[in-house]
Amino acid sequence: MSNPSLHELEHHGEFIERHIGVSEVHQKQMLAELGCDSLEDLIADTVPAGIRRQQSMDLPEAVSERDTLAYLKDIAQRNQIFQSFIGMGYHDTLTPNVILRNVLENPGWYTAYTPYQPEIAQGRLEGLLNFQQMVTDLTGMELANASMLDEATAAAEAMSMSKRVARKNKSNVYFVDADVHPQTIAVIQTRAEHFGFEVIVASAATELANTDCFGALVQYPTSTGNIEDIKQIIDVAHSKDVLVTVAADILSLVLLKAPGDLGADIVIGSAQRFGVPMGFGGPHAAFFAFRDAYKRASAGRIIGVSVDTRGKKAFRMAMQTREQHIRREKANSNICTSQVLLALMAGFYAVYHGPKGLKRIAQRVNRITDLFALALESQGFELRHKNWFDTLTVETKEKTTDVIQRALEAEMNVRVLDGAVGLSFHEKTTLADLDVLISAFTGEDTDIDWTELDAQLMAQGSLGIQSSMLRDDEILSHDVFNLYHSETEMLRYLARLEKRDIALNHSMIALGSCTMKLNATVEMIPVTWPEFGALHPFAPIEQAEGYLKLFEELEKMLCEATGYDNVSLQPNAGSQGEYAGLIAIKKYHESRGDHHRDVCLIPASAHGTNPASAQMVSMRVVVVACDEKGNVDMADLQAKVEQHSENLAAIMVTYPSTHGVFEESITELCDLIHEHGGQVYVDGANMNALVGVAAPGHFGGDVSHLNLHKTFCIPHGGGGPGMGPIGVKSHLAPFLAAHPVQQVEGTAMENGVISAAPWGSASILPISWAYIKLMGAEGLKAATETAILSANYLAKHLAPHFPVLYTGTSGRVAHECLIDIRPLKEATGVSEEDIAKRLMDFGFHSPTMSFPVAGTLMIEPTESESKSELDNFITAMATIRAEADAVGRGEYPADNNPLCNAPHTQADILGDWDRPYSREKATYPADFVKAGKAWPTANRIDNVFGDRNLICSCPPLEHYLED
Ligand SMILES: *Cc1c(COP(=O)(O)O)cnc(C)c1O
Repeated sequence: MSNPSLHELEHHGEFIERHIGVSEVHQKQMLAELGCDSLEDLIADTVPAGIRRQQSMDLPEAVSERDTLAYLKDIAQRNQIFQSFIGMGYHDTLTPNVILRNVLENPGWYTAYTPYQPEIAQGRLEGLLNFQQMVTDLTGMELANASMLDEATAAAEAMSMSKRVARKNKSNVYFVDADVHPQTIAVIQTRAEHFGFEVIVASAATELANTDCFGALVQYPTSTGNIEDIKQIIDVAHSKDVLVTVAADILSLVLLKAPGDLGADIVIGSAQRFGVPMGFGGPHAAFFAFRDAYKRASAGRIIGVSVDTRGKKAFRMAMQTREQHIRREKANSNICTSQVLLALMAGFYAVYHGPKGLKRIAQRVNRITDLFALALESQGFELRHKNWFDTLTVETKEKTTDVIQRALEAEMNVRVLDGAVGLSFHEKTTLADLDVLISAFTGEDTDIDWTELDAQLMAQGSLGIQSSMLRDDEILSHDVFNLYHSETEMLRYLARLEKRDIALNHSMIALGSCTMKLNATVEMIPVTWPEFGALHPFAPIEQAEGYLKLFEELEKMLCEATGYDNVSLQPNAGSQGEYAGLIAIKKYHESRGDHHRDVCLIPASAHGTNPASAQMVSMRVVVVACDEKGNVDMADLQAKVEQHSENLAAIMVTYPSTHGVFEESITELCDLIHEHGGQVYVDGANMNALVGVAAPGHFGGDVSHLNLHKTFCIPHGGGGPGMGPIGVKSHLAPFLAAHPVQQVEGTAMENGVISAAPWGSASILPISWAYIKLMGAEGLKAATETAILSANYLAKHLAPHFPVLYTGTSGRVAHECLIDIRPLKEATGVSEEDIAKRLMDFGFHSPTMSFPVAGTLMIEPTESESKSELDNFITAMATIRAEADAVGRGEYPADNNPLCNAPHTQADILGDWDRPYSREKATYPADFVKAGKAWPTANRIDNVFGDRNLICSCPPLEHYLED
């Protein structure tokens, strides 16, 4: 045998083998067990021939980790990092390094999933509760949720919540103050258009009193920096039964009177400047706070306090039955993935700085602004407002262009207004910056004696904030904000919380429909490069050449992977992609004069976001039945299509289906819809079963969203961030989302605006870009095939213990499988929830529970898991089955057995033991567990108790120490 060539020794496909967890040897074994000769064989058996790709994707060959980073660095360096004074809801900030490294760059935090299994998510639940507490404290409101996607969509959610709760008020008009951030106004206008509301944009101080409306939005301080007396505005509104939403700047709230104390009904805003990089638009967490009375109408997730079976305080998501998953077309909102990781960061920023630290930061920013205002006035410049926190609007008139030009020459970006220049100062601004800036205004070397001005301000207090607007109540007095101010304490606090959670750095999280695959370190490294992190989304576009190149390449790669012609990167979650896609469909029909087409067909098995999105564009949802095999019932579909032919707008269909099957009838389904003039929305959440094998754009889809946080490796962050770009066929391309501040090429404003930022959460796009580069066409296809192989391997080995609910015609599942727990429950009383909790004793996170069918578990292993991890999971499930049988036979009492008592905590093991099984069995139910036990820190948590006694703020510290 000859020696390998240099090319072979270089091993260009190395990353592919790192990403795909199943080795070549194991792949052969697994295939043999499934009775297949090769992967092709399995795929031919599983994926309908009619939709399989004839040619491989036209993508470059796989690139090594090192070369990928080098190429990306080259792209990144084409971005120019100017200092930003643009403001408009995005501010430069100092991410505390202890948070940067131990949270943002730590897989223990970023690879976790939404805390649906609270017993193994107490760490991030506590972090989110901190965030909620911080928000309620600063806004002066009673309740807050655990984050929204961005400030603009939070404002839009506030509008629809106002409509829901202002029942007495029959108006259809929403009032927006003219000095609200322009991107917020644009997103509201789009939402309003599709709900059928009218939006009036005018001065709230003067016009609100004369306008009939159901709700109003004001910005505090305003977009151009003014601090208005919002109490007066709110009082006027309340006298007319109008609800007021205040969009507030979070740092200003440290000093300013809380909007809640001034009467606000809802308070929203961005938590970005609490330590989260601007990232050219995101991801960041928005906050959403409201009166207690509106809690049943609120969107998003709320974390609440409850108790576990030992009576210990424990956290979990509150009022879950009211989430969109259950309410479907009656949903309040379509938001699913939110911004957990970024909310955690902002909450930790407050924990680390504490009330004193935050106050110092806010006062310093305000002082810097005061100093600059004095300096400007001394140079004869006129300011638009008499009051400010951190933002000045300078009436530069005919000097405007010169000022902006000189600032640019000093690598500083300012806000460009009509005859005026806006400046927002922030945590990073220094006196040296002010020196440069003042010269940009005067056009000469201007020497200001800052010390003298400072002395003047020390004597008089804040120049910009009228004393009547200063808050005098205590903020963040809870222990958690006052204990961890040394780095050692903070580091240990973060480590303590992290250890309570199970993330991908511990074990497989086989959550069906969620694709919890590897988020490779190499893909994550660029996210915290300043070349991607420090750009303001509205910076002059020529400074963002690197980003534009990245977008262009990523769009092209995603088109290739999906078979679509164009991509819009604006939607920052799958839900937002659905919304954007349905708007494109609606606009397309309207462009052809088909204004009446408003029926959206949705199979019964669809994800809850589908009907929720449809109702947000005022489509009528018509549910299509599924047959006993789990497929879309083609006869029912035919009947519904004919019945609604005239008004058919679209079908939303997930492929492969949420039942985990490649339906043979998909092409026929698409044809039928098209024959009747409808459009096909293919929910792309299951793209991990398609990439390289089949493409929705080829088999009949007109538009799809891609959850980049599922198939394309953006980590789930414990429930966000995500990205939900949409791919469309060319006829829908003229209807993609635009942006009012930063022009998105090829789009028009009448298309509408989906997100606050033009390219959504731009700074996490390098992750997906890198993944595709690293894998190449061959690697991506192999990933899909392996995902299907692993799911079928699991299905085969679980089937003797739990029936697999649905399979395709040849008996195969797609990339996930549903197992039915109902027969077992019938026979033994053991429920899917008992199984989910018992899995925790094995160190596993439960698969998806009761979606899309109640009483089932949906299992999606992904390609990244090794055979030994799959085998461990099979062992766990087989052991659980045996335990359930023992319960069924009466060997264990129904109310005292390893299943109903799960999960087992250290407190159980150390306490009195009167159970019919050993401590060993409770703790080490299988040998593999001994290699690294992950202890659940809460016993089973009582959801009903928590919802009856709704507490969504931090309990006092003693509760943590109890027990
Ligand atoms: C995850 C998912 C969605 C929603 O996506 P988000 O990014 O969470 O908003 C929609 N449909 C299906 C089938 C999904 O699995």
